[in-house]
Amino acid sequence: MKSIFEERNYSFLVFLDAENRVRQIKLVLYIFTAILTLLVINNSFYSEHFLFPELTFILVVNSIFYFLITYDTTNVVAGMLLWTETILASYIAWQSDGLYDTAMLAFPCVLLFASMFGGKVLLIPLVLYMLSVFYFFAYAGSSGFMEFQLISNTSLWQKANNLSIILIVYGAGIVLVTTYIRKLIARLIKKEKMSQSIQQEADKLTLYDQLTELPNELLCKKKLSAYINDSKMHDEIVGFITLELCGFKWIHSSLGHSTADKILCYLSGRLQKLANEKNHLFKGAGYEFIFITQSGDYEEISNFAHQIIQAIYRPFPVESYDIEMSSSAGVSIAPFDGEAYEALRQKSHAALTHSRESGENLFKYYEVEMEEAIKKRVKMVQELKRAIMLGEFELYYQPKIDLSDESIAGVEALLRWNKNKSQIISPLDFIPVAEDSGLISEIGQWALEKACEDCKEWHNLGLSNISVAVNLSPVQFRHGNLPSIVFRALKKSELDACFLELEITESIFIEDESHIKDQIQQLSSQGISIAIDDFGTGYSNLNYLTKFNASTLKIDMSFVRDMMSSKQQEHIVMAIIKMSDVMELENVAEGVEDINTFKKLREAGCQYGQGYYWSKPLPNKEFVKKYCQSGD
Ligand code: C2E
Ligand code: CA
Ligand code: CA
Repeated sequence: MKSIFEERNYSFLVFLDAENRVRQIKLVLYIFTAILTLLVINNSFYSEHFLFPELTFILVVNSIFYFLITYDTTNVVAGMLLWTETILASYIAWQSDGLYDTAMLAFPCVLLFASMFGGKVLLIPLVLYMLSVFYFFAYAGSSGFMEFQLISNTSLWQKANNLSIILIVYGAGIVLVTTYIRKLIARLIKKEKMSQSIQQEADKLTLYDQLTELPNELLCKKKLSAYINDSKMHDEIVGFITLELCGFKWIHSSLGHSTADKILCYLSGRLQKLANEKNHLFKGAGYEFIFITQSGDYEEISNFAHQIIQAIYRPFPVESYDIEMSSSAGVSIAPFDGEAYEALRQKSHAALTHSRESGENLFKYYEVEMEEAIKKRVKMVQELKRAIMLGEFELYYQPKIDLSDESIAGVEALLRWNKNKSQIISPLDFIPVAEDSGLISEIGQWALEKACEDCKEWHNLGLSNISVAVNLSPVQFRHGNLPSIVFRALKKSELDACFLELEITESIFIEDESHIKDQIQQLSSQGISIAIDDFGTGYSNLNYLTKFNASTLKIDMSFVRDMMSSKQQEHIVMAIIKMSDVMELENVAEGVEDINTFKKLREAGCQYGQGYYWSKPLPNKEFVKKYCQSGD
């Protein structure tokens, strides 16, 4: 915003600041030097000799003043200047016509400046001095002590009185006017300051993050081109690093908003320590931070990205726990990936998405292929939405076999996307996208309802006592309403809760523990059983098994598949079977593809098996045909 003082020039009237003061006093100095020089020259014309000493004196004294004026000496120099000019004027008058001399006209002029520069402190002594000059001249003239050239000395007292009256009235007038002007200026300054602070407040609100007080993306956008230009001059490149805190949502939901906010501020403090004149930190959206880093080469940027990830990773204490926070980062580089803010931001996000998928505490540079993958993903989200509307999902069912007699003990429901009724798409391809976009909640709800409905149908068709297992994504627990969705599905299908099993993976445990625990407890309290899927690939933390009321362990197929060829894998499978026995949990071996594996598992005491050896997952119609109508 333009200052009102820039719009109108008040600088000659009042000293707004030290710089103005110096300028104004210098200006007054020029005016006095010019007036006095002209007076001396003019007087020289009419006197017998040229007033050379007076002229020299004026020039020398004023030059000294000129050099003495600094920010700190303005008050003293202003006083000295006005006093010197007053004394000089009175001296010149003394030399020629006394009270009738034109030099007397300098007095009101001095008073004007005195009132402006020094106020009453300077003005009153000067007025007193000037009055005494008038009466001294009157006395000197009338007593014959001095003979003035121009007129008779008889009316001098009267003249001195008149001059004094005029000077006092003039002085008072000046004081009034300058006081008024000063008040006016003070008011304007106050207004200016107020509008400046309002502007600062507004800037703070729009350009800074309220929580961390870091500059936000808007300011980043404003400053980016300056950083890029600066880097060009120094032969540098600019890294646009987007850093995202992983799993911060669960901190919010488990520790509460205020603790989460404190953690965010704490981490932002750590990152701030890495910011300097070459590495500029901004707060991005959500749990993101942005670093704009001016560096010599890629290696320097890589080192820096590594440093910021490490800064987040160092454990910190929260409510008697030591928390380790993970992050992922994506980097785009100006000028190679573009120079516009939008381009760099988008590309660093594309890199971030890839980095996030590759694992935690990693960073990735942008590559053209990443954008293609993201475009594909965006397209898939649109297609998934359409698929939900058109009802393109299907459930396939794979039997769970009791290894003791090879009878069917249950069924696992596995999703398929029958795209355009012509192409079956594997859940491995669309579930990650559905999870990212949140669409999995809707798809998962449909799967639950359909599985319960189909299971009830099998019961009605004579396949009684068969249970159905439905896979759940951690995302489905986030809203906290999963139990009510499950109960609704059971109620709608009239399926007994004991026939429903929910499969969760160990990855769920790194999400907000108590939030999930509560929901699982609600579910199991109604008789629904919980199976831990892909056991052995994740955390395999036994503590979780009891905490989450798990009733079944599903041994991941990566161990089962290779147990015949690898002793190590065999040992793992055996260990899991023994452990589940001890913990009184049921066990299911996944991915059984041949008879040898089946026999080995049965010998080892494994209870259930699932795999292509018995059946691939089947569409409901085929499943019913194979297992219900045969009466098996
Ligand atoms: P999962 O829960 O571990 O399912 C087992 C996967 O192994 C299934 O793949 C199944 O077809 C496959 N499989 C079964 N027996 C064999 C075998 O003998 N050999 C081999 N090589 N594979 C076998 P599918 O159906 O492609 O499902 C993949 C994953 O997608 C599932 O792994 C599960 O994590 C997820 N998924 C499937 N349906 C759903 C669902 O409704 N909701 C959620 N959230 N995830 C689902
Ligand atoms: Ca499963
Ligand atoms: Ca599995």
